[in-house]
Amino acid sequence: MRLIITGPPAAGKGSIAPFLAKEYGILPISTGQMFREEIKKQTPLGLKLKVILDRGELVSDNLTNQMVEARLKKEDVKNGFLLDGYPRSINQAEFLDKFLAERNEKLDYVISLYLEEEIIIKRIVGRRICPKCGKLYNIYFTKPKFDEVCDLDGTALIKRSDDTEQIARQRIKIYEKQTAPLIEYYKQKGILISSYSGHKKVEDTFDLIKKQVIADDHNKI
Ligand code: AMP
Repeated sequence: MRLIITGPPAAGKGSIAPFLAKEYGILPISTGQMFREEIKKQTPLGLKLKVILDRGELVSDNLTNQMVEARLKKEDVKNGFLLDGYPRSINQAEFLDKFLAERNEKLDYVISLYLEEEIIIKRIVGRRICPKCGKLYNIYFTKPKFDEVCDLDGTALIKRSDDTEQIARQRIKIYEKQTAPLIEYYKQKGILISSYSGHKKVEDTFDLIKKQVIADDHNKI
């Protein structure tokens, strides 16, 4: 199975990704995470990336495409993948289509999450991450038992440096302009699954998505 999960920032892509990856036995690949790892290593590239991410802007299509191409050529994605946060522009989507076509492969589904701007803002500003185990929290919606500490391993939670209201509004604007056109792009291809992801538990959103995949596969038989 080859899947894409897309949606505005903080729509819940990173929370649903592990469920989808487990269900379909595929590897989740997050371009945002790959960039953050490069930043952590403090390489010359990482330092440039930090400036871009901190402004809430997108990394260039060229660099992102090259990085994804190298990643998708690795052995561990032979059986499929779940791309989280890629593609984020029509140019990237076309690049991916071409890359897959050259390998006689194609995407199965694109899952598009959506929710209102004001919920997005609260989700971003309230988002906390455990740097040790990666568990996600939100101080408004899914608080840890003790303030700012991970329930699972007691590690102090951290906030992403781009998780501020000002940057969040900028990222939403960029999403609307550059990434939202992908919804129509994949709708035309007949592989789009849309799901509202606010006011619902991750498990429920995941169940709805799964049912749509099953219903669609049934229609194909
Ligand atoms: P995310 O973790 O998906 O929210 O991504 C964090 C940041 O990484 C974004 O705000 C962008 O600056 C950058 N980024 C992630 N994926 C892409 C992409 N496909 N194209 C360009 N920039 C990206």
